Amino acid sequence: MTLIDSHCHLNYEGLAERQDEVLDAARARGIGGFLNISTRQREWNDVIAVAERHDDVWASVGVHPHEADAHPDLGAGALAEAADHPRVIAIGECGLDYYYDKSDRAAQRERFEAHIDAARRTGLPLVIHTRDAEDDTAEILSAAVREGGVTGVLHCFTGSADLARKGLDLGFYVSLSGIVTFKNAADLQDTAKWLPADQMLVETDAPFLAPVPHRGQKCEPAFVADTAAFVANLRGETPEQLAATTTANFFRLFPKAA
Ligand SMILES: [Zn+2]
Ligand SMILES: [Zn+2]
Repeated sequence: MTLIDSHCHLNYEGLAERQDEVLDAARARGIGGFLNISTRQREWNDVIAVAERHDDVWASVGVHPHEADAHPDLGAGALAEAADHPRVIAIGECGLDYYYDKSDRAAQRERFEAHIDAARRTGLPLVIHTRDAEDDTAEILSAAVREGGVTGVLHCFTGSADLARKGLDLGFYVSLSGIVTFKNAADLQDTAKWLPADQMLVETDAPFLAPVPHRGQKCEPAFVADTAAFVANLRGETPEQLAATTTANFFRLFPKAA
């Protein structure tokens, strides 16, 4: 059985100090790939360096919506140039977060458009973060897909069934994190049951959001196995089936990793 952690932050405090250890612990549980996600321009080199050291780690380049204000000049050119590196397989994470509102909303939308432009130029998929911004996210992605040349994943999905359907209709994938295992996640668990098998991924978003039964611990990529087992059970599938489909989905969405 091989699973992929499609979204983790190996350079964040809590994982950065013990990267080799957490990667080995994950491999021991059958995790065969890790997408190391960047959130700020100044960390791109470090995020890529991990992927250079390990054959089973890939990198993304992007700027989190929280960081939009801190990157007033970030355009598609810088993203596309960094994405030229052979270990960079995705653009992001990028998107909109109106829940925390840590950056000006207009600035968030502007940076999001720059990432979309970079995705189109490079042919790489987008890793999208969206929280409490469903209408704007759906509108921006619909327009992007109409123009063509854009795909990606709605990562750490916590949105409505309606947003999931819109994203799926646009050809995007939906990725489930440990949140789906939480007691208060009934709506998300319902969504996890009907997501099409060929448009679904799993992730940890480590070091955040440790799934049941690891609540209260620092989240690490090994725990994607717990989330995957939980989702498989919800869907009436075996863990092996879910691992096989989500791993195939990962390499279909991110062909540069293959
Ligand atoms: Zn995120
Ligand atoms: Zn993240």
